[in-house]
Amino acid sequence: MNIKEPHPFESLGEKFSSVVEFQELKGIQSIYLNKSFIKESLDPVSVTRLENILRGSEQPDQGISMVYAGHQFGQQVPQLGDGRGLMIGMIKDLKLDLHIKGAGKTPYSRFGDGRAVTRSVIREYLVGEAMHALNIPTSRALMMVFSNEPVFRETTEKGSQLLRTSKTHIRFGHFEYFAFTNQKEELYRLLDWCIENYFSELSDDKEKYAAFFREIVQRTAWMIADWQSIGFCHGVMNTDNMNILGETFDYGPYGFMETYNSKHVCNHTDTQARYSYQNQPLIGLWNCSVLAKTLEEVIDGAILEGHLKEYEIEFQSKLLQNFRNKLGLFEEDKNDPFLIQELLNLMETNHLDFTTSFQNLESILAGDHSIIDKEWVNKFAARHDKESTSLEDRIQHCKAHNPKFILRNYHIQNVIEAAEQGDFTKLESLESMAKNPFEQFENLKEYYQPSPPGFNNLPLSCSS
Ligand code: AMP
Ligand code: MG
Repeated sequence: MNIKEPHPFESLGEKFSSVVEFQELKGIQSIYLNKSFIKESLDPVSVTRLENILRGSEQPDQGISMVYAGHQFGQQVPQLGDGRGLMIGMIKDLKLDLHIKGAGKTPYSRFGDGRAVTRSVIREYLVGEAMHALNIPTSRALMMVFSNEPVFRETTEKGSQLLRTSKTHIRFGHFEYFAFTNQKEELYRLLDWCIENYFSELSDDKEKYAAFFREIVQRTAWMIADWQSIGFCHGVMNTDNMNILGETFDYGPYGFMETYNSKHVCNHTDTQARYSYQNQPLIGLWNCSVLAKTLEEVIDGAILEGHLKEYEIEFQSKLLQNFRNKLGLFEEDKNDPFLIQELLNLMETNHLDFTTSFQNLESILAGDHSIIDKEWVNKFAARHDKESTSLEDRIQHCKAHNPKFILRNYHIQNVIEAAEQGDFTKLESLESMAKNPFEQFENLKEYYQPSPPGFNNLPLSCSS
């Protein structure tokens, strides 16, 4: 058995989490397994145990819901918590949290029902696979439960559960909670627990808390640089949705940008465009500064300030590297940022699809100059002439960094509608494409095209 119950976070005690009994769904129709991920992460005994837990025929040894706070759309919320989430243990050898979303009411449910609906579970399942395959650190799901239990949102929907894994479920909001409620001793205990569990190499560092903060800032900057270079919009970058290891998680109304629009907002509810594509980098920094504020008692202000300043440097250099890779470039040139920005401007003015535009660079390198603007293509060709590696290597480099497939909300919607009728074949197809974004499956050509007019860059509501 390679699952460990309960999760070690429980040792921090009742000020940090509540013990909650898992509530299985009524009228379970099926359990959908992430076969490839299960194969690489769980032994058969553990798979059976987890399935039995989800079916309600076995109880987990323990379930804990965590308390945290957060800034939601810029507003401080003094107490939040896992309102429908339950930590039931870990995968021991991989050190991955096992967390059920939609597990029932908890002391942090507020007015919520503790449940999750089919569409949001499928969306989170698919995007975890997509991000993982794009080499972006992310939570990933092992299983989904589909049931007939009615769950009330704008309409009556069906209850589902997601068994997800993540290296951590500690959010910026955890620190906010203990700082804002002035629980200093607990704040230190949480810091020490995080360092011991995730950054043991820092434990003897005299400035271990500052070094810990620095790690979080860096990872957040890298994560958002990865988002920008793939056109990913998170939609709800509240501090309670930011995890301390820079993994993308708590997916809601996310969207992979289709037609390039720097002001794109994927969350219909975000009327102020706070979390637009172009704002994401700045919001990442804003969130880190909220975290810094919670640590003012612990870390010298000038040191915090210094690490916050590193955010932009880390972000810019990762972003530039990502875009260089997408352009098929191995070496550095001081004019690269301009070449990249000009390409993005062209995409914006001409309403081009982000993913296919980058994919076309490969054809341009191979000699097709009819795509995109002639002047830019000439600059691109001149830049490539400066590279010392072979053209073939650069084309391969380009291919390896420009996915052919991204999850478009239009296709996800179709998959959800079919799954709600009990047909999971479309889900299986989309899942295999999401898992292999650098390949193109010839029999599924339509999935690689931009969505039809009216469905392109489809914004979604927050309800889940
Ligand atoms: P989210 O937008 O999913 O990140 O959720 C924000 C907060 O609301 C978290 O504390 C969630 O646990 C809580 N929450 C969201 N949906 C529900 C629900 N249906 N029942 C209980 N709590 C919920
Ligand atoms: Mg959340």
